[in-house]
Amino acid sequence: MADLAYTPLSDIPQIVQELRDSFNAGLTKPLSYRKEQLKGLHNLIDENESLIREASFLDLHKHPQELVMGETGIGKQECVDAIKNLDKWAEPTYVKTGLINKMDEPHVRKEPLGMVLIIGAWNYPLNLLLAPAVGAIAAGNTVLMKPSEVAPHTAALLTKLLPKYLDHRSYRIINGAVEETTAILEHKFDHIFYTGSGNIGRIIMGAAAKQLTPVTLELGGKSPAFVSKDVEIDVAARRLTWGKFFNCGQTCIAPDYLIVERGIEEEFIKCMKAHLEEFYGAIAQDSRSYGRIVNRNHFHRLKKILDNTKGDIVIGGDTKEDDLYIAPTVVLNVQPGDSLMDAEIFGPILPIMVVNSLKEGVDYVNKGDQPLALYIFSNNRQVADSILDNTRSGGAVINDALVQFGISSLPFGGTGPSGIGNYHGQRSFDTFSHERSTIVKSLGMERLNTIRYPPYSDKKIGW
Ligand code: NAD
Repeated sequence: MADLAYTPLSDIPQIVQELRDSFNAGLTKPLSYRKEQLKGLHNLIDENESLIREASFLDLHKHPQELVMGETGIGKQECVDAIKNLDKWAEPTYVKTGLINKMDEPHVRKEPLGMVLIIGAWNYPLNLLLAPAVGAIAAGNTVLMKPSEVAPHTAALLTKLLPKYLDHRSYRIINGAVEETTAILEHKFDHIFYTGSGNIGRIIMGAAAKQLTPVTLELGGKSPAFVSKDVEIDVAARRLTWGKFFNCGQTCIAPDYLIVERGIEEEFIKCMKAHLEEFYGAIAQDSRSYGRIVNRNHFHRLKKILDNTKGDIVIGGDTKEDDLYIAPTVVLNVQPGDSLMDAEIFGPILPIMVVNSLKEGVDYVNKGDQPLALYIFSNNRQVADSILDNTRSGGAVINDALVQFGISSLPFGGTGPSGIGNYHGQRSFDTFSHERSTIVKSLGMERLNTIRYPPYSDKKIGW
């Protein structure tokens, strides 16, 4: 366990007050200031890649390539996009009006919300804190960040680096667990952006409701992947193997379980086995490319649901507690009601439900909460469209997995229990901006207004 110093509770009010004062003083409003800070954030990531690698290895045994693809590459790109597009994003938009308001310049100003709070999760501990921060900074807010204490090495590193790259008066980190976060939430923020589980999301939203603070909640859920029998089985198996076992299955948009059409399951599993060997060798524990479970609590949670499954373990199943290792595991013939189908798995265990028709799978998905992601593997666009048309989810991908996270022009977020709101690219800027409707009127031509003033009459309204 890293030496992550929790912020003393007694320091929290002053930190919050300083951020509030900086916002009120207008420090973060000039676009030039925001761009400077975004450059700082970019440099923080760019100049410290090796320290970040080290921290993410200690937290999650993450391979540098997974770090670049899932965190640092995306984080830097978000900074670059925001710097490049900020002038355009921040420009007021003028709206069309009828003749009567033609001269009035009605427009929408994009204004900062004020002082905002970002609470990150542990699975992509750098990106889930800094990517929303890009939007918050670009939009001109002061920002308090609370990294996940469950990834202590990354949290400690970011705490050390942030004041070297960003203006300490406007952007701060507070560290801690439940007690510290509860203390933070007693303060009034202008927006709270939270990533994590739905259970804690409810606590966050409850605390925000007391202050009437709007929230963005980036949550999770059981994201299904449909595999149609018309698909190229080998390609589907390869992409799904990558998507599921990336970051050891600890990805909010990982395919949580598969719905496979009867008849192709044996071939599919054979292909998955081959691709697991291609990716991680005969024993994934020996592969530098394969991650680890974040801590003992999560290891035991996963082991328990695996021990209790009534399905058939057809790949993997080995666990090594001292190394927090769970082999890439595939469980066939899993039925609704199984221990693996209760809640989001969030680990390297992949249950497969075999169905007689994809419609049976659609009915199953629709009985549960709307997931964060939904995947469809099919060669037939009509089959895919029919599944899309008859389900709901935060996002969806046909014939791949995880790739939606990397396209910053797509809004990223859930729906219903998988989340509220979205971000990435311009959506991050919008999330942390207030659209202030503004009308500028000339003081001239007052005679035109006579009709609206009392004394009222039927004649004035055309009766
Ligand atoms: P976590 O344990 O890191 O918790 C998230 C944050 O909540 C942490 O900063 C933690 O300190 C704080 N927290 C914990 N208990 C709290 C309490 N009682 N009161 C206030 N704050 C509290 O992460 P987690 O919840 O294990 O995250 C996993 C979940 O997050 C999964 O469901 C996953 O799908 C989801 N997730 C979603 C996204 C997304 O972008 N939608 C990304 C990553 C993870």
